[in-house]
Amino acid sequence: MSITAAALRELHRIHQQLAELRDRLERGPKQVRARESNVAQLEARLAEARDKAKQTQMGVDRKQLDLKAGEQKVVDLRVKLNAANSNREYQALLEQIAAAEMAGSVLSDEILEGLEKIDQHAVGVKDAEKTLAAGKQELDKARKTVEESAAAIHADVTRLEAELAQAEKALPSDLKADYQRVVRSKGADSLAAVEDGVCNGCGQQITLNMQNELKLSKLVFCKSCGRLLYLPTD
Ligand SMILES: [Zn+2]
Repeated sequence: MSITAAALRELHRIHQQLAELRDRLERGPKQVRARESNVAQLEARLAEARDKAKQTQMGVDRKQLDLKAGEQKVVDLRVKLNAANSNREYQALLEQIAAAEMAGSVLSDEILEGLEKIDQHAVGVKDAEKTLAAGKQELDKARKTVEESAAAIHADVTRLEAELAQAEKALPSDLKADYQRVVRSKGADSLAAVEDGVCNGCGQQITLNMQNELKLSKLVFCKSCGRLLYLPTD
């Protein structure tokens, strides 16, 4: 039983194209998943930015309440100061007022700083929102592209599988099992050309006897890698 080198070359071509298409089918969802994880990261970053802004705002609110309470305290102390009965009491109240005013001035500074921070955080939140929106857009685009190309790739796979079935008819029936075994284990690498007596698949020299058999269009498997061998030209 024999098979032409041309038929084997055709078989190899179909196997390689099928492998490439299946690889592309796998790559698409991987690209989508990468963008999905990017979006998840950007969402986390936005949540973090919003949380920071919220915490800072709450801190400022608290300090503003403290400031108001401090101001009220000073007012109350001044009332007491006016009613002071002794010099000692008067001095003590003056010190308390000075301390309360100092605390108020520290709080005022801190509030100003906090307000600046709030502005910065607002910018950070806006940036994070923008980046997230862009990331989502990219994800949508990737999903659409992958979906669209998947349909075309599936059609190509179907066509090539039919071509493969047709091309496999050229295989001698007594060697079909050997061929199928090597295809199962090596896929697109199940065939290899022989150039200058060397198997292109594994780089090993094949025997002169095998080379002669190839020239006689016999089915020859590489003894070191198991690939089905063929001549690159007639
Ligand atoms: Zn080999």
